[in-house]
Amino acid sequence: MRRKLAAGNWKMNGLRADLAMLETLRAAHEGCAVDLLICPPLPLVAAAAEACAGSAVAIGAQDCHPEDAGAHTGDTSAPMLADAGASAVILGHSERRADHGETSDLVRAKAQAAHAAGLVAIICVGESLEQREAQNTLDIIGGQLSASIPDTATGENTVVAYEPCWAIGTGLTPTSEQIGDVHDFIRARLERRFGAGGGRSIRLLYGGSVKGANAAEIFAVSNVDGALVGGASLKADDFSPIINALADEAKAS
Ligand code: PEP
Repeated sequence: MRRKLAAGNWKMNGLRADLAMLETLRAAHEGCAVDLLICPPLPLVAAAAEACAGSAVAIGAQDCHPEDAGAHTGDTSAPMLADAGASAVILGHSERRADHGETSDLVRAKAQAAHAAGLVAIICVGESLEQREAQNTLDIIGGQLSASIPDTATGENTVVAYEPCWAIGTGLTPTSEQIGDVHDFIRARLERRFGAGGGRSIRLLYGGSVKGANAAEIFAVSNVDGALVGGASLKADDFSPIINALADEAKAS
């Protein structure tokens, strides 16, 4: 039985004053039926982890370097994130693949580093609109999965997030059928590679314009184990209805 996960990606948003939101979140969802994770920008990770210590809210980061230490100005390693109190790290987000030219090979190296540091790697995959329109979605996702996920992946240390690039921050979402097709495909690929037990234990998140109004419908789709949420994770009033919809789905399933 996979425990459901609601993960928030704050991207490059948030100052120390915004950490007050975490107090609201932890108070509202103590003893929650699903796992909760917030990934603030790097300067807030340590303070966020301190603010959420002993609560249901875990803290993650948004990227790491594949090496543990060295001459890499401006970069942060996985052991540094763990030392700051993070328990997870988002890797291969489409904004990093696009803005920083990150390849799936690099994402795999980063995921290996995350695993070695004891972090959960949330590995993102997703097609562009052009790729979907050309009916290449499953080929693209299949290639990203093979190259981005390291052999060290298990249900304990890895989460896969399906995030169609065209749905991120746009207000557009795929139909339930489109989400289900991709999630079922990812599950089958994971089972083929890691065996039935291993492949079934890795959680699959959907990401792309999830909000309170569409969350229940998305969470009812097969093989959707939760969501990676951008804009709607910045305010407790927006994120809480998504968490509640996921908790309702967890209780019903
Ligand atoms: C994201 O950044 O991972 C994301 C899904 O963003 P949004 O929810 O804003 O579309």
